[in-house]
Amino acid sequence: MNGTLSVVATPIGNLEDITLRALRTFKECDVIYAEDTRVISKLLARYEIKKPLQRLDAATELKKAEEISLRLEAGEKVVFVTDAGTPGISDPGARLVRHIRTSSEGGSTSGGNGSGIKIETIPGPSALTAALSVAGIDATEFTFLGFLPHKKGRQTALKKIAESEIPVVLYESPHRILKLMAELGSIQVERVVIARELTKIYEEVLTGEPSELARVLEEKGGARGEFVVIIPRN
Ligand code: SAM
Repeated sequence: MNGTLSVVATPIGNLEDITLRALRTFKECDVIYAEDTRVISKLLARYEIKKPLQRLDAATELKKAEEISLRLEAGEKVVFVTDAGTPGISDPGARLVRHIRTSSEGGSTSGGNGSGIKIETIPGPSALTAALSVAGIDATEFTFLGFLPHKKGRQTALKKIAESEIPVVLYESPHRILKLMAELGSIQVERVVIARELTKIYEEVLTGEPSELARVLEEKGGARGEFVVIIPRN
């Protein structure tokens, strides 16, 4: 029996940002594992697709990976999605995929592994690439650091940013965006690009000094929304 694990990218805001292949994969699968079943439910409802849903988040990833492994061995078509964008980019997915690859005998071959189980990507949006596409900076090369560590390792990460010779891209939550602007100012970063609420009604790209952007965000009624922060290098 040859099961398939489809790792599917989903919208980062606008529900129209879903590929035809992703929709077909949803329609043809046996079960969808999602980081949050309520989020995927909205997308499925929009396209009138009904499928059994299971939760797989960071806390349950390895336990659910075992379960998925059994389903794949039984020949099922399993989909995995996270809350937004491309699974595995600063959210769950890597441990699931690694588990399926290594637990199937025979190691890696063209389709995924020697057992006949297929692992496929259904690519689509990611906040990382969406932000870079409208930032207006040369992104021939860049460093992606995802979310900076909250405590231990944060200073080391900031030092890395200060010393980087290529653009650095970060994800940041609304709770910490103002703190991050203050920290970037303190390491003499002169220009920052903030891509906020991409693909949503209040999508905007702000460019300026970190202190200036902090002020702009506060003036707009507080730092709400979702943010990608880019520290360009000229
Ligand atoms: N896997 C996702 C991807 O491919 O982009 C990222 C998941 S990570 C848990 C969520 C973070 O991505 C948010 O905190 C924010 O930094 C960024 N993000 C997600 N959606 C966004 C959007 N619509 N606009 C700006 N940033 C977004």
